[in-house]
Amino acid sequence: MVSQKRALVLLSGGLDSVTALAWAQQQGYFAHYGLSHQVATLSAISGSRLTDLGDIPQGRDLSSLSETIAPTYVPNRNMILLAYAAAHALLGDAMHLIGGWNAADALNYPDCRDSFLASVEQTLRLATLREFTIVRPLIHDDKPAIVRRALALHAPIHLTWTCYLGEALACGKCDACQLRIKAFQEVGVIDPVPYAITIDWSQCRPYSELNV
Ligand SMILES: [Zn+2]
Repeated sequence: MVSQKRALVLLSGGLDSVTALAWAQQQGYFAHYGLSHQVATLSAISGSRLTDLGDIPQGRDLSSLSETIAPTYVPNRNMILLAYAAAHALLGDAMHLIGGWNAADALNYPDCRDSFLASVEQTLRLATLREFTIVRPLIHDDKPAIVRRALALHAPIHLTWTCYLGEALACGKCDACQLRIKAFQEVGVIDPVPYAITIDWSQCRPYSELNV
């Protein structure tokens, strides 16, 4: 292997970040991941439904979503994660941070937007005097585009988890589940993740038949 670019991937285990990891591997990055202890940092931030894991909105009509901050927004989460990740990356001599930020999340999560990420990239360069890059391969992708990309990259979709609730089965009703199900239906593939409710997959092909 010749001059692999060292990168740190911010991996939550969701479809977006796993797709970003698969992309990084395809692009020849030598990818580090495994920052699980940062979860403890997030749990210290109260006031968000995502960190409190209580009262997650379910069954919302997502067609009426407007450009407002999502109730599951964790205050300043990405600034915190990127600061930690950058420190880890530097210690590992990696100059690239890679994540699954995308066009769908940008609508309701201001710290997922390209303008924010470009700003942090500049800040990290000033802070470290290194040519840091925040690589965002999915930044223009909506959810169906991410599913298509994940399938094309043979990302392990069956191992990903998107539901906001911490149950054994995905709820199928929270915003994240609804967006994911709609994306798979649009692409015409059955989501391999098990759901607690019955989903209409009648127009979709089984994931297992896709030679993944
Ligand atoms: Zn859910």
